[in-house]
Amino acid sequence: MTGSPLTVCLAQPIHPDGVALLTRAATVRYAAAHDEAALAAALAEADGLILRVKGRVTESLLARTPRLKVIARHGVGVDNVDVAAATRRRIPVCVTLGANTDAVAEHVFLLMLAVCKRLVAVNAAVRQGAWEALRGVVYGGLKARTLGIVGMGRIGMRVAELAAAFGMRRLGYDPALPPEEIRRRGAEPVEFPALLREADIVTLHTPLTPETRHLMNRETLGLMKQGAILVNTSRGGVIDDAALAEALRSGRLAGAGIDVTEPEPPSRDNPLLPLDQVVITPHIAAHTEDSMRRMAVTAAEQVLMALEGRRPTMAINPEIWDT
Ligand code: NAD
Repeated sequence: MTGSPLTVCLAQPIHPDGVALLTRAATVRYAAAHDEAALAAALAEADGLILRVKGRVTESLLARTPRLKVIARHGVGVDNVDVAAATRRRIPVCVTLGANTDAVAEHVFLLMLAVCKRLVAVNAAVRQGAWEALRGVVYGGLKARTLGIVGMGRIGMRVAELAAAFGMRRLGYDPALPPEEIRRRGAEPVEFPALLREADIVTLHTPLTPETRHLMNRETLGLMKQGAILVNTSRGGVIDDAALAEALRSGRLAGAGIDVTEPEPPSRDNPLLPLDQVVITPHIAAHTEDSMRRMAVTAAEQVLMALEGRRPTMAINPEIWDT
């Protein structure tokens, strides 16, 4: 309600259902831009923040936001939040677990099929009047092919389920899960090098952390099967783009399907941009109506729980209540 003593800052617009929920208890304020100065200005009087992919919460930003009591990521990755710094200030950092799982998993299949069937080139040829140009090509399919799933969390598990429906063999690697749990989540547990050697298609579903930065590099890409495909809907930083471009140019990999880059948007000299065998979407895997609505409503609920003095159910730093 207008005039409410509570203010929630939205770093980017969110689905109207989330805004409607917030405005029942707080004034909503939008950041004018996403650099630190603009966020600090927007957050000067804010009690809560909902952050999508633009903008970073750093230690120095937090030092300029005395009223801030809760941060909610609209999504699940927290690579743009200094969680340790927020924890030191006893600010809960919340995510929207599961809200975008189905949308991202479906996007993985869009990318896989678009690469296998050269959708972008085929579509362009038909529009240019060259109906026959690519009809002689024999394209790849998914049935009976081996899918390597790196990260068997929520999205990885849903990808395994959809892959089973396509009749694919599924291999899963996740260092945090015991083999029986990976099996329960729908994939055969394997070590990372074995997954890379055996998979026809590798799909990445890890968070971006210091351990996963450039997980796919010259060495690991070199382990992949000749003619394999790489799909990335996790975070751009998980791949060393220069090494991937080289693997594609040399013909070692047949193609790549990518929804995320580093930075976003990619720099104009990103080596993947000129390659026809790469299909790139602009970080839209989660942008379905249902997923956007659920992320917005869940993020708003988490913020309101914290501002009403309750413990948000999706805080990833619960130690602030335990210590
Ligand atoms: P999740 O937390 O449920 O699963 C992540 C899994 O990755 C965990 O099981 C974890 O143990 C595993 N993992 C961590 N380090 C690993 C490593 N080195 N090797 C293999 N596995 C590792 O998260 P989720 O909901 O499945 O989302 C996964 C990631 O996808 C998010 O962190 C986010 O970065 C990205 N994402 C992207 C979009 C998009 O729009 N493209 C949308 C949602 C999520």
